Amino acid sequence: MLLFILTMLLTALTQVGGVVLLCSLALANLVSAVYPWQQNLLRLGIFLLLYTLTVRVITPMLAGKSGRVPLPCFASDNEPLQPANFGYCLLMRNYVKPEVRTHLLHIARQFRQIHPGATLRYLDAGFPFLDGFPLLPHLSHSNGRKVDLAYFYQRKTGGRPVNFSPAWLGYWFYEQPSSPKENACLGRRNWLRWDFDWLQPRYAAYALDVERTRTLLTLLAADAQKILLEPHVQKKLGIQAANIRFQGCHAARHDDHIHAQW
Ligand SMILES: [Zn+2]
Repeated sequence: MLLFILTMLLTALTQVGGVVLLCSLALANLVSAVYPWQQNLLRLGIFLLLYTLTVRVITPMLAGKSGRVPLPCFASDNEPLQPANFGYCLLMRNYVKPEVRTHLLHIARQFRQIHPGATLRYLDAGFPFLDGFPLLPHLSHSNGRKVDLAYFYQRKTGGRPVNFSPAWLGYWFYEQPSSPKENACLGRRNWLRWDFDWLQPRYAAYALDVERTRTLLTLLAADAQKILLEPHVQKKLGIQAANIRFQGCHAARHDDHIHAQW
């Protein structure tokens, strides 16, 4: 039962992690240890080794053949793009179609020309294989054409820009509407629309960096096919474009990140 739950969990989180676990156990069974703890240690060791090999070598190679490439895990001068949390790379949730990678890198380079030294940060993108395989908890990230991007932030006192996402995952630090009137889903609760009110005080020292986030949205609006954003954030950033839409009240909030698709 535990094995079933672990396999399902790893598959939901990483797509191929469940298969890696089953292969590791099969390999570990080829060697019989004297004590059960030795056998468990061996299983863990083989799993970690095989998982690392899968993340670094096997998946990029096989995904490339099926038309998906990883977004960069570490930013460089030529590719100023990286995940808001390295976990997105470790969990292999950073795969997209090659043309989407090209678009994003182009935007990241343009961004750095406007804001020297700044790095674009992505959140969940897509899994390495199979169109239609859901990247939970997202409803639509299943074809390698959708990427979530982190907002930019600054310190509340002094307004100094910071080059990280205050929220650990880059999600769930919500930009609150300035008045209840601006809340597009006021009084319309939905189980997919998480608020995490208890988390918000943790980020009290930070505020949205309107200038840099506006630059990002402007570049995206000129390039992407569709962008999802909460209306009050769009108003705050002051950008009008036909491809910027509201996701509706039956989906996750988009006032903590930008969803872009090509
Ligand atoms: Zn998204």
